[in-house]
Amino acid sequence: MNTVTDNFGSMVFNDSVMRSRLPKDVFRQVQRSMNEGKRLDSAAATVVANAMKDWAIEKGATHFTHWFQPMTGITAEKHDSFIAPVDGGKVIMEFSGKELIQGEPDASSFPSGGLRATFEARGYTAWDPTSYAFIKDGVLCIPTAFCSYGGEALDKKTPLLRSMEAINKQGVRVLRLFGNADVTAVRTTVGPEQEYFLIDQSVFERRKDLLYTGRTLFGAKPPKGQELDDHYFGAIKPRVAEFMKELDEELWKLGVMAKTEHNEAAPAQHELAPIYTTTNIAADHNQLTMERMQRIARKHGMVCLLHEKPFAGVNGSGKHNNWSLSTNTGVNLFEPGDTPAENAQFLLFLCAVIQAVDDYQDMLRICVASAGNDHRLGAAEAPPAIVSIFLGEELEGILDAIENDTPYGGKEKELIKVGVHVLPKFPKDTTDRNRTSPFAFTGNKFEFRMVGSSQSISGPNVVLNTAVAESLRQYADVLEQAADFESALHELIRDVIRKHKRIIFNGNGYDDAWVREAERRGLLNLRATPDAVPYYTAEKNIALFTRHKVYSETELRARYEMKLDSYCKVLRIEALTMLDMLWRDILPAASAFAGKLAKTANEKTALCPDMDVSYESETVRRLSALTASAAVHGRALEKAMDGVKQQENTLAAARYYRDRVFPAMQSLRTVVDEMESLCDAKDWPFPSYGEILFSVK
Ligand code: ADP
Ligand code: MG
Repeated sequence: MNTVTDNFGSMVFNDSVMRSRLPKDVFRQVQRSMNEGKRLDSAAATVVANAMKDWAIEKGATHFTHWFQPMTGITAEKHDSFIAPVDGGKVIMEFSGKELIQGEPDASSFPSGGLRATFEARGYTAWDPTSYAFIKDGVLCIPTAFCSYGGEALDKKTPLLRSMEAINKQGVRVLRLFGNADVTAVRTTVGPEQEYFLIDQSVFERRKDLLYTGRTLFGAKPPKGQELDDHYFGAIKPRVAEFMKELDEELWKLGVMAKTEHNEAAPAQHELAPIYTTTNIAADHNQLTMERMQRIARKHGMVCLLHEKPFAGVNGSGKHNNWSLSTNTGVNLFEPGDTPAENAQFLLFLCAVIQAVDDYQDMLRICVASAGNDHRLGAAEAPPAIVSIFLGEELEGILDAIENDTPYGGKEKELIKVGVHVLPKFPKDTTDRNRTSPFAFTGNKFEFRMVGSSQSISGPNVVLNTAVAESLRQYADVLEQAADFESALHELIRDVIRKHKRIIFNGNGYDDAWVREAERRGLLNLRATPDAVPYYTAEKNIALFTRHKVYSETELRARYEMKLDSYCKVLRIEALTMLDMLWRDILPAASAFAGKLAKTANEKTALCPDMDVSYESETVRRLSALTASAAVHGRALEKAMDGVKQQENTLAAARYYRDRVFPAMQSLRTVVDEMESLCDAKDWPFPSYGEILFSVK
């Protein structure tokens, strides 16, 4: 016992537990509700609830919670104990079918973007039977969706499930046309690679900025950063290795297939990648992963930073969203295949993605937009804010040949007729060379690299699923009417390539030349969150999401409000934290240090009038100039903050933060960082970058 395989999923109410604990007919009902979305009847729900409770109690659980994902992007839970009173002042442990299927948290404090007036504060949660219940810290957690009484989604799970349904419906329509009679469903799969930083708890607690905002707002460059590239894939320090071991074990118990753990480019930066799974489960698992990381780090005296840009001048953290589409018969639709028919099908699904990325580049940018991620995108360490797609030269060559009816291949060049010819094989490693692309085809899946490390992956996958569903819908509409399927298909693919090839870019995405080239191609370059978010409610986007029943217009508008609102809030907290650090810690410390130096200089000259005190006097002069300048910048930032109140709506406020508050923060930082490099390290009120980044020995 106690091996990895025994422990894997030991805290999960999964198929094998259900099979052994549920009567056959109830088990079958649960399977049906998982596979076909059929609601359990109340008798079956009661049986499931009872079995779940008994299992959970045997595992030491005393409470249950509907575990859900409000629009904050993190998870929420409210614990209820299983106890119910019985005669004689005693209690029994109880959990009803009704409690399993539906909960009613008082939801008034969750952001709703105006969807729910506070007088109808109660939302309801509904069990998502496709994601297993699990036990975490003695609590039975039931993955649920969270809606208002009007039925509007107040969470991240509901739209994700709807988008999976949309792509399922359209994907099956297209597959029917290729004669795949046995396919009854398609589902998207995701493997998110999670980056994070680990620092020592003692340095974390001495940094107000990390404590309040998750990132450093000041900090002079350390003598050594990541320039030697000696951290990437380097030997893992023993403390970190212990953390990773415990993290893996905890995640395995929860059924999360944590697979690889390694060091990343920046000092103190690491990555965890799981084995991919169905998208809604991957989203749940990624939430669990982020939560466990933070908790287990604490147990080891460290803090896990999930912020997209905790340190200026050092790589930030992202989350590569590896995404693919496969059938219930186990075929990956982005695998080129061996026969002309398989190749044709592959090309059409590939086109669906190319078109989706081009048509909805704005939505792909919006779904990764946040104050934190704005620091990363376009900073020559992560993909630019411009959305494009990388296919690799072989594949682009094939598309070129189809588009222009020109021969393709090595010695025996031939014309490629879709559905007739076999595509040449392209070795997988040639497809994954370009790390600068925001959206790369990597052999049999796509890797969306703009996602921020702290973000829920639900939003990005909602956009991907729905946008690709829309391409597929259009293709099915055309091809279902076609008299000659093969030539209609060839023509369709050629048209899509012609129309959307501007989104394909195989070059260096970090290059300035690409910014100009992208502009020439008419691609969007939405640098900051307030630039991107207005596109949310563009007519074509409302049409997309309402057509596929993923978001209603009201739900979209709510999300638009929330994105802007949280952008403003983050910047406000950052600005206030900077001011607090400036007035209460930094200026007093710098001034005291200058005073100390002046005193020393005086004492030295009193002792010996011609003594050289140029270090002291020069530093006092420079520091005094800098403290005066920092105070001026501090007041300018305060003044900028005063102007926020005058903005008439959230968009104006967000733009104001971007144009006025953020630059004021940057200029203040520049002055303070210079002060730091002049001050006595012992007198500086906060641990330096060097101390933080190399704090885990
Ligand atoms: P690397 O990027 O390090 O070369 P891989 O590309 O093999 O490694 O895998 C990276 C991530 O992509 C992993 O989380 C993996 O599970 C995931 N992945 C692999 N195949 C698929 C797929 N068909 N669908 C979704 N994710 C996938
Ligand atoms: Mg990868």
